[in-house]
Amino acid sequence: MSNETRVLVVEDEPTIARAVADRLAAEGFGVDVAGDGPSAVERARAYEPHLIVLDVMLPGFDGLEVCRRVQAERPVPVLMLTARDDETDLLVGLGVGADDYVTKPFSMRELVARIRAVLRRVERPAMEAADGATRIGELEIDQRARRVRRDGREVHLTPTEFDLLACLLRNQGTVLTRAVLLEQVWDWADASGTRVVDSHVKALRRKLGQELIRTVHGVGYSLEAAP
Ligand code: CA
Repeated sequence: MSNETRVLVVEDEPTIARAVADRLAAEGFGVDVAGDGPSAVERARAYEPHLIVLDVMLPGFDGLEVCRRVQAERPVPVLMLTARDDETDLLVGLGVGADDYVTKPFSMRELVARIRAVLRRVERPAMEAADGATRIGELEIDQRARRVRRDGREVHLTPTEFDLLACLLRNQGTVLTRAVLLEQVWDWADASGTRVVDSHVKALRRKLGQELIRTVHGVGYSLEAAP
């Protein structure tokens, strides 16, 4: 396989799928397209994309299920396409594990910018990593290998969930505002996407324990020191 960055576009509306695929190809990405849930999972396995652009409403099974099944096999960043803002709110509330959300209709320029931002974060070198693993309570966090164990068992985190955890860990005991987290983890300069932060905090709590991350109402979040 060549070393171009591969993107899998999962979208059942042919016009949108083609427009996105054409634009990404013009930007130099390798592109593959799937039009329903089952073929999305199959293509993700065969094509090994670096990122998936994933529509929520799909024939077969929906984007949430695609996300779950794909992530269970191999962590891959997901940018979710939603039909409306309230759909984004719903998904954020569920803590689906997408790395970012773009609401339709979107401009190709915006989509490409968001894709590049997600990829930048994921490809960030491990130089920020501390040596060895850090222990917090029942958790063991290895920043070099980007792995987390809970009670000795490996926990799967999406790339963004891991970045968020690492950011909180670097600032352990300090309260970080949503805007700061958004900037440091998502590379977003404006604070318009703070609910994405809430979604990922929720996912981390579900996977790593409810007590790990403290909410400071009206301020933000902080990672608690080991008890
Ligand atoms: Ca659709």
